[in-house]
Amino acid sequence: MSGNNSAAQLPVMERFYTIQGEGFHSGRPAYFIRLGGCEVGCVWCDVKQSWDASAHPVRSIESLLQEALQYPSRFLVITGGEPAQYDLRPLCRLFHENGFEIAIETSGAYPLVAEADWICVSPKKFKAPLREVMQAADELKVVVYHKSDFSWAEENAVQVSPDCRLYLQPEYSRFDEQIAAIIDYVKAHPRWKISLQTHKIIDVP
Ligand code: SF4
Repeated sequence: MSGNNSAAQLPVMERFYTIQGEGFHSGRPAYFIRLGGCEVGCVWCDVKQSWDASAHPVRSIESLLQEALQYPSRFLVITGGEPAQYDLRPLCRLFHENGFEIAIETSGAYPLVAEADWICVSPKKFKAPLREVMQAADELKVVVYHKSDFSWAEENAVQVSPDCRLYLQPEYSRFDEQIAAIIDYVKAHPRWKISLQTHKIIDVP
């Protein structure tokens, strides 16, 4: 096996074949790997059960590949938890060798040690993103929980590269309160787009 053996196994909370519901790749079938472990501590986190890495079984990257190969899509999404808490290069290399395109979803709070084709940074107020990760982002996805989050979104947007796609996404439990303001904001600031959690509408993981 190629790569750093130390990360040839990773704690996996869940893995599933589904439709990417959010952001730039919304609507695209993908094999998801949700890694366990996150120390960012967002109050509204909807996957708090991911936080404790030791609560999740450690799986070999080879076994993850073999499972992913059973499905027709060659698009892998690595999420968490906070996947950047791990050296993801062995996982990425193995999947790349087998024809996968790889997207990573991260808070940006940790150096990203990976070989990804698409980096989606969703920054969190609870642990600021690193400048180097923001610069590498292909997609900035800011979750809007409160109307004050628009100015915070702009503070983040100045840190990304000029060709990074910008998305505002209502926090799911605040959807009804926030969506009208998000629509108004995007209409007035057209470099932003709206991202919706469409997987929740079509009821897939
Ligand atoms: S970074 Fe993601 S997984 Fe971690 S606490 Fe925040 S929302 Fe939850």
